[in-house]
Amino acid sequence: MEKSLIIIKPSGVQRGLVGPVINRFQQKGLQINGIKMMQLDEEILRRHYAHLVDRPFFPWILDSMMASPVIVMVVSGRDAIEVVRQMVGATNGRKALPGTIRGDYSLSGQENIIHASDSPESAALEIERFFKADEIFDYPLAQKQFLYAPDEI
Ligand code: ADP
Repeated sequence: MEKSLIIIKPSGVQRGLVGPVINRFQQKGLQINGIKMMQLDEEILRRHYAHLVDRPFFPWILDSMMASPVIVMVVSGRDAIEVVRQMVGATNGRKALPGTIRGDYSLSGQENIIHASDSPESAALEIERFFKADEIFDYPLAQKQFLYAPDEI
């Protein structure tokens, strides 16, 4: 099954949204394969947000993402990368649709609760960036037959 990397940002941790955010992914049927708390530093953030380092607001991103520990997670499921991005919603919480995580919990383009991988290529890189191989667990999904048709597994 496809895997995606999720970060519950300091905005989600500090606002007490770790449980509600994780709950959404579990209720959807996605499997958790890895989960931990970590304090991000400038070095990992410069790699993670390499596409934004030259933008004038990049120092704000650094401060925002280092303001407290974050929760990093690997979740899996059929088409998990696209499914998770749809659940996360548009980057700016004011534009994200109600029903999405950012649409329900954020009013900001910066303090937007969560990061999620946007492509198979970035998911593979991001999982390697934040997790060691022995921190990812591939185990049988007990409810599989009630989550997927035979040709979806
Ligand atoms: P996404 O997180 O939806 O994949 P981007 O990769 O474009 O979006 O941006 C990464 C993160 O950088 C955003 O989630 C947000 O926290 C921050 N960010 C993006 N644009 C801005 C901006 N104009 N001002 C402040 N922070 C921003």
